Amino acid sequence: MKDFSAERLRETEQAMLTCTMCGFCKSVCPSFKEAGWDTSAARGRVLLSYGLVQGDLEPDDEVMESLYSCTTCMDCYRRCPSKVDVVGIVENARRDLVASGRMLSKHRDVVAKVRAHGNPYGEEMPVPETLGREPRPAKLAYFSGCTAAYRTNEISRAMLSILDKLGEDFTLLDESCCGSVMGRIGCPDEELVPMMRVNVETIAALGVETLLLSCAGCYRMFKEDYPRHVKLPFQVMHVSEYLASQDLALRPCARSIAYHDPCHLGRHAGVYDAPRDVIRMIPEAELVEMPNSREQSRCCGGGGGVRSAYPEAAGRMASARLQEMDADLLVTACPFCVTNLRAGGAEVMDLTVLVDKLL
Ligand code: SF4
Ligand code: SF4
Repeated sequence: MKDFSAERLRETEQAMLTCTMCGFCKSVCPSFKEAGWDTSAARGRVLLSYGLVQGDLEPDDEVMESLYSCTTCMDCYRRCPSKVDVVGIVENARRDLVASGRMLSKHRDVVAKVRAHGNPYGEEMPVPETLGREPRPAKLAYFSGCTAAYRTNEISRAMLSILDKLGEDFTLLDESCCGSVMGRIGCPDEELVPMMRVNVETIAALGVETLLLSCAGCYRMFKEDYPRHVKLPFQVMHVSEYLASQDLALRPCARSIAYHDPCHLGRHAGVYDAPRDVIRMIPEAELVEMPNSREQSRCCGGGGGVRSAYPEAAGRMASARLQEMDADLLVTACPFCVTNLRAGGAEVMDLTVLVDKLL
């Protein structure tokens, strides 16, 4: 293991100094609510990061746990009066930790699988083969993402079914992991950018003009991270945005439906209306807002690599989020949230699956 160097963290030193330690972030931080220690809250993470920059702290196991139990939900930024970019600080700290050879063992395993198989689950079969369709030239393409392809398969199958029902001429892709998992863990740009280039070149080679994505994490990558490094010759849409743009003739569903905003789709990418517009298209359905929704939505607890590193804590954060649910059905728009909320004991459905059932 190399000596720790706070090279990337130093870039965010000014943000750390902006923190007044007021503690307002504690009222929303899901990991603080779960663990109860200041080191598990936004302000504790800022303080520890500052200690690393100053050389006053060693990146020991407790510091690692503090920095890797952050779900990168960004609710602290929304709540913070000083607008401290805590996610930026945490993600830069993780980059420095990885650069020094420090990685949680669960994450080391996940990263090895992405490197060897192009997906974090170590699956051998490529996505198009898993879903039973060959890539071909088309203007519209569907990027399933690893979780919807290999774990919550009903989501990608529902999306294929919807596109067929709508008569779209579309293609699947020889996709490789978008890089979200490795990026959130803290792998360097030198490793991520070639992954981005391969995906973009594969998609562009088919003449794709619009790329649809199911996963909020993949969407954030293509929408925010990719354009910083690679030129995208196609537009990017989350499936909820695509569905909201369609004139969907849906069968009635006389149920109350609560919508959970995925953090990486909502706070990170600003997509709040599209999924709600789709639910409003369902005759007889009643859209119910959870007490904390839209910009104030509470994290399900699964993001930022927390589900893979600390599955029990992620499950408890999901249970806490589910306490707010008061509707017949809980719907979200991210395979990762579906997986983690299910771990919290909920019957939860992805928006795509619901639409396919009613179309
Ligand atoms: S709310 Fe902002 S300024 Fe206050 S302690 Fe949290 S991060 Fe610091
Ligand atoms: S991003 Fe979320 S989990 Fe991380 S410190 Fe902020 S509120 Fe807490």
